[in-house]
Amino acid sequence: MKIIAGNWKINGSVAELDSMISVLNEIDTENNLIICVPFTMLNCKKSDRISIGAQDVSTHEHGAYTGEVSAKMIAESGAKYVIVGHSERRQYHNETNDIVNQKALRVLESGLMPIVCVGETLDQKNAGQTFSVIENQVTESTNGLENYILAYEPVWAIGTGLTATTQEIADVHEYIRKLTSANLLYGGSVKGANSGEIMSILNVDGVLVGGASLKPDDFLPIIKSV
Ligand code: PEP
Repeated sequence: MKIIAGNWKINGSVAELDSMISVLNEIDTENNLIICVPFTMLNCKKSDRISIGAQDVSTHEHGAYTGEVSAKMIAESGAKYVIVGHSERRQYHNETNDIVNQKALRVLESGLMPIVCVGETLDQKNAGQTFSVIENQVTESTNGLENYILAYEPVWAIGTGLTATTQEIADVHEYIRKLTSANLLYGGSVKGANSGEIMSILNVDGVLVGGASLKPDDFLPIIKSV
């Protein structure tokens, strides 16, 4: 059984989500399927086969924080997962490991499962800092978390069409495995053509998929490649 999670970012619509859920309801799979959608789609039609997740959460539980959504509110919607620390949040919203950690703690306290993202930039990779960056992100972002999923997403591989090599993924996942017993996902330009090979790598428990999770024609081959 693998975990196959989609991250829709600011894409899709309620109608597209409905039709994706209908398609996925019909397929025969043992895998754990998750789709992480914009907040406005969290109240979508429910399915026993597919879990819904959010893509971010507030560090606050309630109060005067205009525009924020709390973990409890996400839980009330029926969602089960929340992505925290996606590189786009770290990069464009200056989220530090400490902020990511606070968000993940709120998620867990609300009975939801955090999907904590980590990953090195191209500059860090080229400077030979991949392992130290990842160790720092994993240790600080998951501090005090009893349960979580960890997604390794090299920043240079997200939405670029570049995928880490099998050896790179194997090496980083082996390194992370020594730091945590959490389920480990790989993310970064995963598609039907490479997902089978990626998910057969030791210590890869599933994938986090951006662009190729938006349309059934792209997402189904990934699910079927396990
Ligand atoms: C992502 O945004 O988490 C991601 C992996 O995107 P993509 O699959 O499009 O590279």
